[in-house]
Amino acid sequence: MPAIGWYNGTMGPLSEMTVPMNDRAVYFGDGCYEACLATGLRVFALEAHLDRFERSLKALSIPFRMDRESLVRTLTDCLAAADEPCAALYWQVSRATAQRMHAFPAGEAKPNLLIMVTPKTRSASGTPMKLITAEDVRYAMCDVKTLNLIPNVLANERAKECGADEAVFVRNGFVTEGSHTNVHILKDGVLCTHPTDRYILPGVTRAILLGLCKGCSIPVSEQAFAKDALFSADEVLITSSTLGVRRAETIDGIAVGGRDEARYQRILQAYERRFSEEMRV
Ligand code: PLP
Repeated sequence: MPAIGWYNGTMGPLSEMTVPMNDRAVYFGDGCYEACLATGLRVFALEAHLDRFERSLKALSIPFRMDRESLVRTLTDCLAAADEPCAALYWQVSRATAQRMHAFPAGEAKPNLLIMVTPKTRSASGTPMKLITAEDVRYAMCDVKTLNLIPNVLANERAKECGADEAVFVRNGFVTEGSHTNVHILKDGVLCTHPTDRYILPGVTRAILLGLCKGCSIPVSEQAFAKDALFSADEVLITSSTLGVRRAETIDGIAVGGRDEARYQRILQAYERRFSEEMRV
């Protein structure tokens, strides 16, 4: 099947699936989600995604009662039905189905689980990216993986219109993250990255990257860096579950990075090794 949808127990071709109009995800984006990469029935860094998902549910006070084992079984059923060698696995939980009112619905909320599996071609590792910068106009809950992504959507669309792949948010002169990625630089042998506060999503791939740097004896500085530092960096690195580890070749049309090939290759190869070992590909 080309793409699979699952909603509260019903599975079918994604293009034929529907959700009720009064699911709170529809009119408030009142929910949280995860997005992972799967090969066959294996999901890369699944435990880390499940941990973050539980943190998001807690931050939003969504009483999602399905235990981890049952959720994993359901996700695996969807992957099995899709039967894809490589797929993007997405799931979200919304608070409830109820008439539109800002406050939580009265009584016991019944959260809705939605799952999508879509075929994915894993882009060749090391494919460089074109970036643009964009003002970070988001709120102060960027650490929670909520469905509220309008500034991210608009910034990524702007990147596309500029012939680029991704937008890098800048808040008060400092780089936070990308529209759907984390952003890091290598400078003088040190990997610099924004700390995990409320202005970035604590990326699963970011955490993996930091672990790999440790293994490669590359020191890490978790301190916000200025927008200018992107242009003087030895390398600008981008991470996400679906993209893996990439580097930037241009930002706002200006050539960047390419000055620390050796460390970049060490990091990239360490990531690919980790991916292959876990996914057995
Ligand atoms: N930052 C944002 C805003 C994201 O949406 C994402 C992924 O969707 C990331 C960072 C990267 O996170 P991860 O490595 O967990 O995919």
